Amino acid sequence: MTETFRALMIEDRDGKPVAGFRDLTRDALPDHEVLVEVAYSTLNYKDGLAVTGKGRIARRLPMVAGIDLAGTVVESRSDRWQPGDKVIVNGWGLSETEWGGYSRFQRLKPEWLTRLPEGFSLQDAMAIGTAGYTAALCVDALEDWGAIQPGGPEVLVTGAAGGVGSTAISLLAAKGYTVTAATGRPETHDYLAGLGATGFVDRATLAGKGGPLQKERWAGAVDSVGSTTLANVLAQTNYGGAVAACGLAGGFDLPATVMPHILRGVALLGIDSVMAPQARRDRAWATLAAHLDKAHLASIARVEPMSQLPALAADIVGGRIRGRVVIDVA
Ligand code: NDP
Repeated sequence: MTETFRALMIEDRDGKPVAGFRDLTRDALPDHEVLVEVAYSTLNYKDGLAVTGKGRIARRLPMVAGIDLAGTVVESRSDRWQPGDKVIVNGWGLSETEWGGYSRFQRLKPEWLTRLPEGFSLQDAMAIGTAGYTAALCVDALEDWGAIQPGGPEVLVTGAAGGVGSTAISLLAAKGYTVTAATGRPETHDYLAGLGATGFVDRATLAGKGGPLQKERWAGAVDSVGSTTLANVLAQTNYGGAVAACGLAGGFDLPATVMPHILRGVALLGIDSVMAPQARRDRAWATLAAHLDKAHLASIARVEPMSQLPALAADIVGGRIRGRVVIDVA
């Protein structure tokens, strides 16, 4: 097959990972069992790191970037998938060790594919993307821990105006929890209130080094920021509460003490989306299908062409993206 299509590739230039558009043919794709025609991908913080070169996400080069994709099966050597099936992939090493979603066609292993959940279009699935599916993993984990109650004490969401934060607010509010948003952008308050946040915290108040045990305030939290923010959130979490930690937008360190854990029984729940087992993924997508408001999803996401990826990647790493960006790969 000699038809060419565009892909955003990370290549080695003088020992540095550099992103650029390349024309590929299907023959150049990896020899995995399922060929998918990709309709949409998306922009996550990790994609921003990969495309700007600010983070070494790709562990081998050249690499097609994009940790998410949604599309239609074109050919399959696996009994599990037939041409015409609508599928999504989140993570599984895409853009790290496996070629990813910034390409009109991609070949993938059958076990990486999730059937497009009923009620969502391919575009909806990428409006959610890894960020939104991770928000659902966080909400499921907090509920499993049993620390948060609908109508009960506040649940905090940090990095609120970002992709994980926006989706977490919408999901938590839809489930009846009282949600407070920690953001550094006051201009997003109306947007966040529209998603269901009823309280606001200036993220600067969580950024400095605080005491090991602070005034108890949160039944639980979804944290996509890490570093001193996560340390302060843990120190402010109520007796028996839990914090679902998934991100490092503020730093990958954790300058904290054991005090909230050993004196208040606070749990730190680690959330990974990349290698999460299929059953946990299916449950997260079911949570999204049941509770994510379609009008909220429309206000969270916008669609951009693949040509804009370099500029958008700089914006997400710079904290300038609100909500989610869907990438039209066609
Ligand atoms: P976004 O860039 O969309 O959102 C991050 C938000 O964090 C920003 O919108 C901003 O919120 C806040 N923020 C940015 N920089 C800082 C800073 N220096 N200090 C404090 N807050 C800051 O990213 P995503 O929502 O896509 O991802 C969020 C994080 O979660 C990333 O670190 C990402 O790598 C991680 N992640 C992890 C996953 C996993 O599997 N564990 C999966 C998906 C994401 P505001 O403007 O409201 O203050």
